[in-house]
Amino acid sequence: MALDDLNLQIYGCKKCRLWQGAKHGVPGEGPLNAKVMFVGQNPGADEDETGRPFIGRAGKFLTKTLTEYGVKREDIFITNIVKHFSPKNRQPFEDEVRACLPYIITQIKIIKPDIIVLLGASAKETPRLDGIEYIQIIHPSAAMRFTKMGEKFRIQIADLAQRIHQA
Ligand code: SF4
Repeated sequence: MALDDLNLQIYGCKKCRLWQGAKHGVPGEGPLNAKVMFVGQNPGADEDETGRPFIGRAGKFLTKTLTEYGVKREDIFITNIVKHFSPKNRQPFEDEVRACLPYIITQIKIIKPDIIVLLGASAKETPRLDGIEYIQIIHPSAAMRFTKMGEKFRIQIADLAQRIHQA
């Protein structure tokens, strides 16, 4: 399946209740041949407004930190496990995550990244596919809020950047 077709399915999806309170489906974005995929939990308010992933404060912080270590956001495919915003930004329920999983599985199969970076514990439901290295790092929103986590996040991004440059 082509990514554009998948995106259309996501925009029109009603497989769980989340579409009802959302303005836009947020499939994710990035090059088809990305070697690295970043996965978060689900879109926030800014992402819901625009239909684009990780463009709010946490997303900007992530992009800035990656840039500092020589990693261009344009080279990364960035998405979330769940493709619609949740009411009051609550965590998606289990049945919502389950309903949405086929989309990220298809995205992984289309893009075939070498590395999948899980942003925080919230991305833990990301399906594990053979032949892909999974790396969990602190979520940028936590890194922004807590100094210690911010320091650790920076180290994790530095390590990740080195890994990406070697790939
Ligand atoms: S969150 Fe996922 S499963 Fe639920 S309506 Fe949106 S695209 Fe469909």
